[in-house]
Amino acid sequence: MKLLNPSFVEALAPPIPVGRFAPSPSGSLHFGSLLAALGSYLSIRRQGGLWRLRIEDLDPLRTVPGSEDELLRTLEAFGLEWDGPLLRQSERFGAYEAALEQLAAQGLLFPCCCSRKEILASAPHLGEEGPIYPGTCRHGLRAGQKARAMRLRVDDRVIAFVDKLYGPYQQNLALDVGDFVLRRADKLFGYQLAVVVDDGAIGVTEVVRGSDLLASTPRQIYLQRLLGLPTPAYFHLPLALDDEGEKLSKRHGCYALPADPGRILCSALTFLGQGPPPELRGAPPAELLAWAVANFTVAAIDPKNRLAPKFFTTEG
Ligand code: GLU
Repeated sequence: MKLLNPSFVEALAPPIPVGRFAPSPSGSLHFGSLLAALGSYLSIRRQGGLWRLRIEDLDPLRTVPGSEDELLRTLEAFGLEWDGPLLRQSERFGAYEAALEQLAAQGLLFPCCCSRKEILASAPHLGEEGPIYPGTCRHGLRAGQKARAMRLRVDDRVIAFVDKLYGPYQQNLALDVGDFVLRRADKLFGYQLAVVVDDGAIGVTEVVRGSDLLASTPRQIYLQRLLGLPTPAYFHLPLALDDEGEKLSKRHGCYALPADPGRILCSALTFLGQGPPPELRGAPPAELLAWAVANFTVAAIDPKNRLAPKFFTTEG
């Protein structure tokens, strides 16, 4: 029998599963962000993979001093231990710049002078996330106009994927989104660009996050294809809502170093359909997580968004 060359064997070996949690440091962890942290952790640990942590601090004006440190301490209190060094988007501008250059070399970027108001007034119809860019500056800036943002040309093609929980999802970027911003008028890099470059750089194989980001996924897949990056698996989670049906956010109360992490963890597990057996209620986080990793199943998650448990405002 002929032995395989070791580098060839390596090339054939499946990649190490890598998941990630990517919070913005704009306040403490809240029940909604705990769900994203927990869901991504359980799913990737169940696959024997690595769980990476990325701080999404692209926008200095939204970064709250001290909140990164508090997020890390809170994750530790919940027993959610990450692998490898922490990644900070504020330290990765060179990589985003290089990606923009790669896209510009393909003739896919163009400067745009439109303000939000102008886009709203001229948009053909409202997309899932606001007005669809009508293509005003696609063929050049109007005389005398100054560039504000840089946009990426999209094409009139369907981008489809199968979400692990929500199933088939598709968008035609030209009809549903329009050419989108990769560098904002304030010179900050766009979320879509940074996420794709970073997920690619750390070899993320599975993205788990709230279902409010489902509609961003086709844009991210499009960018991966243009940049020659692999497309990870996508797994979106139901959202925890407040009494008005709004997605929970930091204003709903946060868990800065929770006094009773085991109880909150049990609620988050139950929300995700992974409620532990009665004898484990009140167990320390490490024990709850070990049980939850061993028993994690996607099929137990109810995809409907629904009310968060009542106690969520009382902590922290
Ligand atoms: N930073 C985003 C948030 O806090 C998550 C982005 C992502 O998971 O792709 O909602």
